[in-house]
Amino acid sequence: MREWARASRPGLERPAIVAPHSAHPALNKAAHYLGLDVRRVPVGPDYRADPAAIAAAVDSRTIGLYASAPAYSLGVIDPIADLARLAADRGLWLHVDACVGGILGPFVRELGYPVPPFAFDCDGVTSVSADLHKSGFAAKPASAILFRSEAHRDYARYTFDDWPSGTYSGLTFTGTRPGGAIAAAWAAFQFLGREGYRGLAAASMRARAAIETGLRERIPGVRIHGEPPLYAFAWAAEGVSMGRVAAAMAREGWVAGRTTSPDGIHVMATPVHERYAADYAEAAARAVEAARSGDSTGTARAAYN
Ligand SMILES: *Cc1c(COP(=O)(O)O)cnc(C)c1O
Repeated sequence: MREWARASRPGLERPAIVAPHSAHPALNKAAHYLGLDVRRVPVGPDYRADPAAIAAAVDSRTIGLYASAPAYSLGVIDPIADLARLAADRGLWLHVDACVGGILGPFVRELGYPVPPFAFDCDGVTSVSADLHKSGFAAKPASAILFRSEAHRDYARYTFDDWPSGTYSGLTFTGTRPGGAIAAAWAAFQFLGREGYRGLAAASMRARAAIETGLRERIPGVRIHGEPPLYAFAWAAEGVSMGRVAAAMAREGWVAGRTTSPDGIHVMATPVHERYAADYAEAAARAVEAARSGDSTGTARAAYN
C-alpha cells in the first residue's frame, strides 16, 4: 500500500491508514516498521467500522483504509462493501484483514448462514489477508495475502542488483522462506479439500451455537456483543465485571480471553469446542453467580498472546 501510494504521490510525508478501533494490533506493528501512521476511529453502535466516521477521518496524508472480516475481539464483520465504495471514490487502497474468517467464512456462507461479501467481490477491495494457521487449520508460520491484481502485488516486491550475484528479488519480509510450513499448509489443503473445510465450518458453527445456547439457558441477563456472523464472539452478563467472571473461571481452570470495549469474555469456537460447550456454559454460569454474589475476588486482565 505504501509503495503504491508513493508511486502516484511522490514526496508524501508520513502516510497514514484509517482503521476502526477494532483493528488487530498487527496493523500498528506493520505501520511501525514501515513508517506509517494509523488513525483509529471509534466503531459504530453495532461495534463495526462506521463508514461515515472513517470518511471524516480521511485527510491529505491518508493512503488507505483497513477493515476486518471479522474483527478478532467481537467477531463482527465491518461493512466492507460500503468501505470499498468509499476507498474507490477517494482513490484509496482498502486492505481487508480476513485473518480469522478468510478461509472458513466462505464455507460458512455456502452452508446457508448469512455472511456478507468481504473480499474481491466488493469492488474497491485491494488486498485481503487470510491466516492459514487459523481457520485454514494449517501449521504456523505460513499465511496468505491476496492482491486484486498482479500490478498491486508487485508493489510488495523488493528488487536489488548492485552486488556480485545478479538480481535479488522477492515479495516477502522473510528472505529464505519456510518451505516446511508452506508444504504443510499445502498438505492441509489437499487433505481437507472443500468437503473438509465445509465440515470444519459446520462444526465450528455448531460449537458456537452450542456455547451461545448454553450461556443463554444458564445465565440470566447474558448477551452477545453485536451481531457476529461467524464462530468468534464475545459475551457479557448484566451488572457484573467480566474481569471478575474470568478470574472465577480461571480458578476452575478455564482460560477466558477478555474484551475491554465493551467489557466481555472472548470465544473463538472451533470444532474441538463442541463437546465442551455445556461444561463451559456451566462453569461460566457458576463464575457469574460467584461474581454477582461477591464470592469471587480478583480480576482477570485483558491480554492477547
Ligand atoms: C491473528 C490475527 C492477525 C495477526 O496474525 P499473526 O499471524 O499472529 O500476526 C491479524 N488480524 C487478525 C484479525 C487476527 O486475528
